Amino acid sequence: MDSLSQPFRGMNEERELHKADLRSLSFEELSEELALMGEKPFRAKQVFSWLHEKQAADFSEMTDLSKALREKLAGRFALTALEPADVLVSKLDGTRKYLFRLADGNVIESVWMEYRHGNSVCISTQAGCRMGCRFCASTLDGLARNLSPGEMLEQVYRMGRLMGKRVSNVVLMGSGEPLDNYDNVVRFIRLVTDGRGLGLSARSITLSTCGLPEEIRCLAGEGLPVTLALSLHAPNDEKRRELMPVARKYSLEEVLCACDYYFEQTGRRISFEYSLVGGVNDTREEAEALAALLGRRNCHVNLIPVNPVRERNYVRSGRQAILDFKNVLEKYEINATIRREMGRDISGACGQLRRGYLETRP
Ligand code: SAH
Repeated sequence: MDSLSQPFRGMNEERELHKADLRSLSFEELSEELALMGEKPFRAKQVFSWLHEKQAADFSEMTDLSKALREKLAGRFALTALEPADVLVSKLDGTRKYLFRLADGNVIESVWMEYRHGNSVCISTQAGCRMGCRFCASTLDGLARNLSPGEMLEQVYRMGRLMGKRVSNVVLMGSGEPLDNYDNVVRFIRLVTDGRGLGLSARSITLSTCGLPEEIRCLAGEGLPVTLALSLHAPNDEKRRELMPVARKYSLEEVLCACDYYFEQTGRRISFEYSLVGGVNDTREEAEALAALLGRRNCHVNLIPVNPVRERNYVRSGRQAILDFKNVLEKYEINATIRREMGRDISGACGQLRRGYLETRP
């Protein structure tokens, strides 16, 4: 919008922010909206394709719609478009960390990673987070707000377009707790797996959670077989409570019970994440206790050497401690991998690019 021809720019921007986001609507909702506007049923397919297949950034790109319809749509709806504010590119493996600015000025981080088996994007589900995990930078300033389904989709679409490459996997492991923004996240998963749009398979999506049992059970009933990753980080409640405030609310037993239910309902093997913090949760005894806790579950353990956060004094475990920890798990026939570090040279912990940006603002 041209600012010179818009003397009441502030007011217009306000209005723009309050419009419903067209990209967040399901196909059925979009069809209803168009029907209410007096449009023929086939229009829904056309508009959906512009939004999710061709990924239009502006209504003016939707050239096979009449100008009148485009104007009507623009008058009633907003189209989420993220603005890249910064990017860090790894010289080692091409990993890219993007800082995107949202329409209301909030910023979020998203990461692009290239593997042999395809391209993976790690997206944020909230601006900030209110879960308070001690070693995580995303939570240091608390929660700013939930992201809309359209804002999650745009991270995926935008990075794919910027790279000119296909996205094959999505991981919900950026800032935010996905299950604390449940409805929008489920909507996002339905949209990104819709065959009329990007059409990813639910199996190529991983949702990582700090462990909210009620929401895990709900998710099991959505008919969306995404991979569930549970952030464990400790083998007992006492240690877990030190690292993750959410563990004061839910015991490991409750959380694991919900995970077992998820596995029963979806047939998807659970992935347990365990960030190794030097001298805090990385001894052989703790590995033994973890093995006992997981027992004979059909699962996978992902060991993540902790990324030190400036504001906290946690350090990563030594190489040998990490290997020992993995060996103990394997002794008990638990499938374990050490997370391959992508973009080691730009690997400020999650949320630190955003924090750096926020700190430079008044
Ligand atoms: N809220 C979700 C997603 C968080 S990010 C969750 O709790 O799972 C994904 C993973 O990275 C989580 O397991 C999280 O605990 C972990 N993580 C966050 N900060 C980290 C850090 N500085 N070093 C290592 N792992 C970290």
